[in-house]
Amino acid sequence: MKLANRLNRLGTETAFDVLVKAKALEAQGREIIHLEIGEPDFHTPSNIIEAGAQAMHQGYTHYCASSGLYELREAIAAEISRTRSVTVDPDWVVVTPGAKPIMFYLILALVEEGDEVIYPNPGFPIYESMINFVGGTAVPLPLLEKYDFRFEVKDLLSKVSAKTKLIIINSPQNPTGGLLTKTDLEAIAAIAIRQDIMILSDEIYSRIIYEGSHLSIASLAGMLERTVILDGFSKTYAMTGWRLGFGVMPPGLQAHISKLVTNSVSCTAPFTQRAGLEALAGAQSEVHHMVAEFRRRRDFIVRGLNEIPGIRCLCPSGAFYAFPNIQSFGKTSNELADYLLQEAGVAVLSGTSFGQHGEGYLRISYANSIENLGKALDRIKEATARL
Ligand code: PLP
Repeated sequence: MKLANRLNRLGTETAFDVLVKAKALEAQGREIIHLEIGEPDFHTPSNIIEAGAQAMHQGYTHYCASSGLYELREAIAAEISRTRSVTVDPDWVVVTPGAKPIMFYLILALVEEGDEVIYPNPGFPIYESMINFVGGTAVPLPLLEKYDFRFEVKDLLSKVSAKTKLIIINSPQNPTGGLLTKTDLEAIAAIAIRQDIMILSDEIYSRIIYEGSHLSIASLAGMLERTVILDGFSKTYAMTGWRLGFGVMPPGLQAHISKLVTNSVSCTAPFTQRAGLEALAGAQSEVHHMVAEFRRRRDFIVRGLNEIPGIRCLCPSGAFYAFPNIQSFGKTSNELADYLLQEAGVAVLSGTSFGQHGEGYLRISYANSIENLGKALDRIKEATARL
């Protein structure tokens, strides 16, 4: 078989590989604590499940418009307008199976060979993978612990060139849990406007914030027309398996992104979209409960990690990840993640799963019970003491 060269440029999400390794150990009878996968451990709220089931009975089981059901796009536009203090139209929304395809489609739509895209590093690995896949040049913007996992403005400035087509930002951020400040966003906005650069603002964790509040770059003057907001239902409503997300984009782009949907998956399952409608319209108490529980777990895991000799961990302001510094053990992040899986039965991700600037860190997803987090801390403490 002669595969296309472009496949050599495609990256992946290591979480799924580690999950497979951990499952293989479980099949041998080992008890593994899963802190690798980035999804809420809560059930999808029952009102949402009911709405999905009812929609199936009502016949929402056929193809629908590639851009999504109008009633859902209308609800999304209203929600985004309210929460981002902007005015967007349902015709600016494209609904997709999960929010991830928005990255894929937008990069396909904007980036030509040789164009440069600035992306956060450490950051969600699919950004870099997709930029490389389409033949663009991926330009990492380091997010450093010494700046609370934010970037330095002069560093960002040094990365911008005449070839910069797109800047990707993600706040609250995976894998660090860091938040960009208003000053950071203003700096990016000024550069984007001056150099005529588009922004992909990944706001998938916008509802999972513990300190401060979410600010979208789209709400800054002159930015709505050059920002694509990516958001979805996976994290906020514990709906990862339903596959439901969306992009909100400047007019003119929506038709092209919808065409990419037509060319790939045709549309997003309409009964899933009806469930999403209920998620937005129904009571939000379960979201609030989940975020309160994540906050309790964050405080627990961060305190516990900082009590382990050799580990230092900043307190993340959002999402459900901790990103502890493990440089003192003299092992690479990969080696330590492997060691913890094999020796301690704790599955975590290497910081380098999120790019080269993740070296020296682990990503720990604390979407797990306090009991399991406690067990994991004991095991990590015991195993690292033996190094
Ligand atoms: N963006 C970030 C930063 C993520 O961490 C994830 C999932 O892990 C996604 C987007 C995609 O989520 P989904 O495709 O499930 O909506």
